[in-house]
Amino acid sequence: MRTHRSMRRSGALAATALSALLVLAACGDDDGGDDTASGDEPSAEAGDFPEGSTMAELAEAGEITVGTKFDQPLFGLVGPDGTPVGFDVEIAKIIASELGISEDNINWVETVSANREPFIQDGQVDIVVATYTINDERKQLVDFAGPYFNAGQTIMVLESNTDINGPDDLAGRRVCSVEGSTPAENIRTNYPEAELFPTGAYSDCLEPLRNGQVDAVTTDNVILSGFVDQNPGEFKLVGETFTEEPYGIGLELGDTEFRNWINDVLEASFEDGRWEQAWEDTAGTVLDTPEPPEVDRY
Ligand code: GLU
Repeated sequence: MRTHRSMRRSGALAATALSALLVLAACGDDDGGDDTASGDEPSAEAGDFPEGSTMAELAEAGEITVGTKFDQPLFGLVGPDGTPVGFDVEIAKIIASELGISEDNINWVETVSANREPFIQDGQVDIVVATYTINDERKQLVDFAGPYFNAGQTIMVLESNTDINGPDDLAGRRVCSVEGSTPAENIRTNYPEAELFPTGAYSDCLEPLRNGQVDAVTTDNVILSGFVDQNPGEFKLVGETFTEEPYGIGLELGDTEFRNWINDVLEASFEDGRWEQAWEDTAGTVLDTPEPPEVDRY
């Protein structure tokens, strides 16, 4: 499979050759193409970034491919028009806009928990913004900017359940989580008495919970809160969070320049209110607005 990045590289070369021809043809005309840019449109250009950097490449291409969740209310959920909505989606839009890429030029790709590292490694996506916990194991395979939010693992049960109040109550019970996620790994490693029922995506846990095939669902508090909100009267969260899940933006391993740049963008958005606005427009309709986290420039 051709990687996205190499496709973009050849596209950028073709674009350069084409613009040289256009300059010759226009001969003295203005810069052709920026005329329609309104004040609200992103204004960055490839020339604003170091030559050869991922930022310059993306700005030149005028598009970015973002991996996100498609089935998680509040963070990444595909709406009726086929484009995802949620806090992760808004974070990706902030990054794209700093590259001069409008939201119409973001290619959204569904990533589930297990395919995020391979999608980054294969170049199928430029970045992943998908409730993606930064941890040392994953850092062997991809780089992370962020965090831009701190979540924590918790448990969701049927509204009528009174037996399960925390992770220790999962012993001897069936608990649904997603293959390739940190909460599933945590159950396997630290709660081996629980019977893990692994699925491909969190939405696949809902029917098994409803019909009693599983007793609980476990993952990050904010993901579960989205499901509780979306299904009134059916489910509830129990107990406190019992892990730390700092959400990062996954990118190609070793692209420190791009990682540092995204960290700068995140910090600017924490300062100027865009991060808070993104939260309030999405997850903030259900959850309290947190303080922005400290970016970790490891
Ligand atoms: N934040 C956890 C993780 O990255 C759980 C959520 C998810 O699977 O996306 O594995």
